[in-house]
Amino acid sequence: MTTELQEVPHAGRTTGSRIERIETYVLRPPLRRPLSDSIYDRTHWVVPVVEITTADGLVGTGYSGLWTGEDLVVRAIVEYLAPRLRGADAALIGAIWQDAYWSPLHWVGRAGVAHMAQAMVDIALWDLAAQRAGMPLWQLLGGRHPVLETYNTDGGWLNFTVDELIDDMQGMVEAGWTKVKMKVGGPSLRTDLARVAAVREALPADVELMVDVNQRWDRVTALRALRPLADLGIGWLEEPLHPDDVLGHARLAQTGALPIALGESVYSAESFATFLDAGAVDVVQVDVTRVAGITEWLRVAHAAQEASRWVVPHAGDMMQVHQHLIGGVGAGREAMVEYLPWGLELFAEPVHVDRGRLRLPLTPGASTRISAEARERFEDRENRPTPHGD
Ligand code: MG
Repeated sequence: MTTELQEVPHAGRTTGSRIERIETYVLRPPLRRPLSDSIYDRTHWVVPVVEITTADGLVGTGYSGLWTGEDLVVRAIVEYLAPRLRGADAALIGAIWQDAYWSPLHWVGRAGVAHMAQAMVDIALWDLAAQRAGMPLWQLLGGRHPVLETYNTDGGWLNFTVDELIDDMQGMVEAGWTKVKMKVGGPSLRTDLARVAAVREALPADVELMVDVNQRWDRVTALRALRPLADLGIGWLEEPLHPDDVLGHARLAQTGALPIALGESVYSAESFATFLDAGAVDVVQVDVTRVAGITEWLRVAHAAQEASRWVVPHAGDMMQVHQHLIGGVGAGREAMVEYLPWGLELFAEPVHVDRGRLRLPLTPGASTRISAEARERFEDRENRPTPHGD
């Protein structure tokens, strides 16, 4: 089942939106400080970028955010997706999505590398569509929220001492945030719970604290942790179990002790449907860089909202795209994104957050354009993939 892009009847537009050029490169901005969660230690953030140029000279930008494997993602675009895209009408986003999804890459990955590469292309096409419409993407998608709440997750790391954790969290509160998150999932549940209790105690009562396990518990540990965390008034419990354990998450959610948040490790609309159907997720953290782009993100968000769940995206995109998606379609009460300020220096128009509140931009496009200075400064030229085609 493939869509032949050339066979889709043209709606009488000029040929301005014909795709002429696809360029990829990789940026490697340093983090402000070394960070660990329960799975990884890291010093840098890696941002592979794709720029798609159409006949009328517009340039759409898509990107991803990862720690490693950028060569694989870029190669999937250059060698497998780009040859299908060249000459296609960039405005036919749905047709291009189907064509890429059902391309031979499907055989080797309906999640992971293939999906992340497709996401980069899809984001670039939506950026082009919004530029062509002369609107910021959030208005093109519906324009529901000009201002969003953010919750701060740029602290609370597992490699911090309790004193450092408290200092960090208090700094966020002083800077205006009323929702913050910390990591757990270390070797000892007792230590995890003591750290959470110390932070909870140190924060003002009206500041909400969320807890993120990054998949490291088994069902027994998670069940043991649930009640103590609920007693501490934790806002939500994030990724307690392996991301494929639908039944395990359903059991936790159905205790009603705490909202269960997950989604950054769920890579397809079909997988999200399984979690929703099973009652295994309350806070849907769908990430536009992990599912196959904005096209698939919208499917997940609409399904979650119809099932009366919150949609609070994971910030794998450093908020630049998600601000538009939640601003466009987010539900009123929980119009919120995760605040994670890594790599914001890369963008020509970085998100604008003040006192924990994000004001949506009015510039046409999806806020994905990389600044020329940032490319000059952070491009990884040593590990450039061999260019193929354009
Ligand atoms: Mg997380």
